[in-house]
Amino acid sequence: MSVTEQEGQITYKWTDFKSDQDVRWCPGCEDYAILKAFQTALAELDIPREKHVVVSGIGCSSRLPYYMSTYGFHGIHGRPIPIATGVKVANPDLVVWVITGDGDCLSIGGNHLIHVMRRNVDIKILLFDNRIYGLTKGQYSPTSDKGMVNRTAPMGTVEEPVEPVALALASGATFVARTDAAYLKHLIHLIVEAHKHKGTAFLHIYQNCYVYNDGVFDDFTQRDVRDDRNLVLEHGKPLIFGKNRDKGLRFKDGMVEIAEFEPADPPEDITIFDETNLSLAFALSKLYWPRFPVPMGVIRRVEQPSFEELIYGQIEKAKQKFSTDLNKLIYSGDVWEVK
Ligand code: SF4
Repeated sequence: MSVTEQEGQITYKWTDFKSDQDVRWCPGCEDYAILKAFQTALAELDIPREKHVVVSGIGCSSRLPYYMSTYGFHGIHGRPIPIATGVKVANPDLVVWVITGDGDCLSIGGNHLIHVMRRNVDIKILLFDNRIYGLTKGQYSPTSDKGMVNRTAPMGTVEEPVEPVALALASGATFVARTDAAYLKHLIHLIVEAHKHKGTAFLHIYQNCYVYNDGVFDDFTQRDVRDDRNLVLEHGKPLIFGKNRDKGLRFKDGMVEIAEFEPADPPEDITIFDETNLSLAFALSKLYWPRFPVPMGVIRRVEQPSFEELIYGQIEKAKQKFSTDLNKLIYSGDVWEVK
């Protein structure tokens, strides 16, 4: 083990979080990039490895716990969130991560996503969104584009896709962020930010599936276009984008418009981003390329008590209010004997 003790502090390298298992994703899959970012972020957090638990469901992304030198749990389809909730509530000292995909999290597991958001359990959810079922060889998923032709929709899907960020916000999320798997530094930064948040953190990651849905995000994530087609959010800063920083968004009377200006001279009415403003977060979540730039970064962040904090607080109150002697407790109410 290459972990070194320095003045009582543990200092990790990203390689300390690699397991001895062979990584089995298709060559070129962006899951490799997310795995590296995750290992790097965990090394930065410098928390003992045995404090991390990585829980997954089923799908290509859900193989990830095997590749981590932490505790892990490869769960069943759509159920990583309830498993992670149980782990966190049973032992709040653990740092609990959920690794899930668009099928696992938004189709069979969609119900769990809604309820964990409103409960604000202190777990961190990394959604790998490749807009396809990769492991089962290319069926359309809840985030697939309408009209997409594939094995289960030979004439094109007729369904409107789910927007994961909008769904999380509508369910009461206290931390929501988005990035692309290719933006390695940004991804590492957001994983660290997600960890800092006390409560459910939801990180939506665009992830290219090289085999079944290659290039689906290229229009706004390729190196030569991303500055013009991404809106990188910073709390307290105006919503400005473009390679030359010469475009901005103006939200007014429930509408949004793009303003163009001289690079150093943005108009005063460009909207200032406020990560606590739910209406603004929701409006941003519904901006789609090619009409608008795609928002990236922390979209919403607010403080609220976490689920397990409230549960443990209630247990303390109950201990003060009621006797801890089980026998006394049983006979303290309306008790009778059946003969
Ligand atoms: Fe990655 Fe797609 Fe291969 Fe799955 S099928 S490992 S998502 S490239």
